[in-house]
Amino acid sequence: MKAIFKKAVPVLAKLEQAGFEAYFVGGSVRDTILGREVADIDIATSAFPEEVKQIFPRTFDTGIEHGTVSVKEAGEIYEVTTFRTEGTYADFRRPDEVVFIRSLEKDLERRDFTMNAIAMGLDGRFIDPFHGKDDMKKEQIRAVGQPWERFHEDALRMMRGVRFVSQLHFELEKHTYEAMQQNVALLENIAVERIAVEFIKLMKGEAVQAGLGLLVDLKMLPFLPGFSGEEEAIATLQKWHLDQASDDTIIWFAVVLAVRPNNVTSFLRAWKLPNKLMRDVATAYGLAEKTTWTDYELFETGEETVALIEKGWLIRTGKTNWETLQERFEALPIKSRKAIQVSGNDIMAWTGKTGGPWLKEALAKLDEAIVTGAIANIPEEIKGWVNDVIK
Ligand code: ATP
Ligand code: MG
Repeated sequence: MKAIFKKAVPVLAKLEQAGFEAYFVGGSVRDTILGREVADIDIATSAFPEEVKQIFPRTFDTGIEHGTVSVKEAGEIYEVTTFRTEGTYADFRRPDEVVFIRSLEKDLERRDFTMNAIAMGLDGRFIDPFHGKDDMKKEQIRAVGQPWERFHEDALRMMRGVRFVSQLHFELEKHTYEAMQQNVALLENIAVERIAVEFIKLMKGEAVQAGLGLLVDLKMLPFLPGFSGEEEAIATLQKWHLDQASDDTIIWFAVVLAVRPNNVTSFLRAWKLPNKLMRDVATAYGLAEKTTWTDYELFETGEETVALIEKGWLIRTGKTNWETLQERFEALPIKSRKAIQVSGNDIMAWTGKTGGPWLKEALAKLDEAIVTGAIANIPEEIKGWVNDVIK
């Protein structure tokens, strides 16, 4: 058993000692079988939430209405979720009710794909009623049960299936694929935030070309904000060096570089992305084609934005000047206006003038004088410069 599971063994053991069943489940079990890195582990148990809370002294009600209790054990936090079934799905997206149950098999039955419906016990044995291991051996993604029904219950599963193709380079099993073809329009009911989570995971996948291809083949583009009719943008993304797109900001920058939306901010807003990300991407997009920089332009634009713009070049062309530019940033006399040794108040005192637009201009000129090395960032020297230049 891997170290990450061993560390969590006491959680399972305590549940078992109290007379309940407990297993590792979900992505961690799948990724272990595939020999992939396991990020976090999920635990499923026959104990009801109140029972879990009686067994462990330190718990938090993270998602108690869904049966998830966070348990602190040996300095780590584990999510322990009660076996459950999901009631009827009136709106193609979430169960109307969750019902806690004592049966592991029924819990596995409500999961999306066979590879995600495997449990691992304390003894390291797998409980795999839907033959997820066989499907993984065949490198295929198969819905648990009737795919058509499963996508009607929760349309997000179709998007998850495509992102797993991208992450694992598996294929969609035939019936699963066909059910997606038939039900893709149900994605309309899914909150854009949930689609965005899957889309980002897709974009980070090792087989991103295959994942993107499926978005087109399965006609999913109309359900991705701003992507309707953007098959060419997808083809462009497939040609780019997306393996260089490591974080979300860079991925969204690459996306807008490919889609070239009329209004970048509206495009990003439709995806309900965080404000800082939207600002950073829009700023970089405005300067995306820039290749040569003066020292003052570097200073004004800032290291973070220039780094993002250079990532844009790396993704598009496989080449970047970032190393040289970074050295030039290091060599700048000041990195930001805050580093200037005098303040606006000093300048007002020296000139005897009150504040106004002239001061803003003066400070900008002062930035430039210091960044270009015309004067040193020393109060005495700045005072002399103010006397000469600012009247
Ligand atoms: P990742 O490695 O990205 O976390 P994951 O498979 O663990 O992938 P999670 O969202 O963490 O995905 O979900 C954990 C488990 O819960 C899944 O493996 C699956 O068994 C189940 N699950 C998650 N989302 C759904 C869904 N929409 N429908 C059915 N089962 C789901
Ligand atoms: Mg997970």
